[in-house]
Amino acid sequence: MAVLVCGGAGYIGSHMVAALIEKGEEVIVLDNFQKGHRNAILGGTVYEGDVRDKNILNKIFSENTIDSVIDFAADSLVGESVHEPLKYFNNNIGGTINLLEVMKEYGVKHIVFSSTAATYGEPKNIPIKEEDDTIPTNPYGESKLAVEKILKWCDKAYGIKYTVLRYFNAAGAHVNGRIGEDHRPETHLIPIILEVALGKREFITIFGNNYETKDGTCVRDYIHVMDLVNAHSLALERLRMGGESRIYNLGNGQGFSVKEVIEVARKVTGKEIKDVVADRRAGDPAVLVASSNKAMDELSWVLEYNSLETIIKTAWDWYKNHPNGYNY
Ligand code: UDP
Repeated sequence: MAVLVCGGAGYIGSHMVAALIEKGEEVIVLDNFQKGHRNAILGGTVYEGDVRDKNILNKIFSENTIDSVIDFAADSLVGESVHEPLKYFNNNIGGTINLLEVMKEYGVKHIVFSSTAATYGEPKNIPIKEEDDTIPTNPYGESKLAVEKILKWCDKAYGIKYTVLRYFNAAGAHVNGRIGEDHRPETHLIPIILEVALGKREFITIFGNNYETKDGTCVRDYIHVMDLVNAHSLALERLRMGGESRIYNLGNGQGFSVKEVIEVARKVTGKEIKDVVADRRAGDPAVLVASSNKAMDELSWVLEYNSLETIIKTAWDWYKNHPNGYNY
């Protein structure tokens, strides 16, 4: 019985593939390699193709005995989604509908789906709980929320059981040192800070220092990619044991400001890391911090890498050893 990982060559997907291989699972990877990297895939059978293409999905499901799907295949840049909403609706919603249609056809009943804190929009309460209002402020969050709703109806109609995982800020790299984050272009805070530490950029731009937060900069909940992936493994286990469909937040429960992250990175790297304050970035809520109690209670999820030092240290080890990312 194989697990299909869609988007398995991406940042989180590749860490998932590594974890599944380590557990001895049979793994099938589907990736269109637009953003993903071939050498990020540490095992399994790889198919090159797009979730929007029924032919490749039919090929995968007919050639393998898939019992579960973990779906990471998506566009995920908030800023880009504001300018290109149709791209996001087409890929993120259209792709998952295709996948669900093929799952239905082949009688595959389990899906773990990557969702996002962006489904909440500007939160009314911190920490954010799963039952809080979901009013996305950008098309990326909207596309993920739409799929969450589609999943609900597919469960009712076809008995496809899902676990939706709403990620907060994924960060860090695998402790094996072989895989990490390599986005092109890079837009995320910790990788950019570390590019400054590496001397690849001159400074880190702080997007806004006039938010109503402890030091005026945005506060986010950074969760280690290894912890994130572990939650997927537990969610998969639970679905395979007959678990009902659920939605869980995945975060650290601790908020760090942009300035605090830069400070910790200075400590970890021993580098100066120049920063420059600029205007706010469109669509950024001031504070996003998760309550992950539900995942901890129901999945017995335990965080192993939850200190910001550890998160940045593992990322730094990856960047130091792979200054050109996967181009080695
Ligand atoms: N950020 C920043 N400078 C950058 C990139 C990000 O100040 O060059 C801030 C951003 O405004 C947000 C936080 O860092 O408050 C995390 O942003 P990131 O893009 O890493 O993740 P997001 O929260 O958008 O998922």
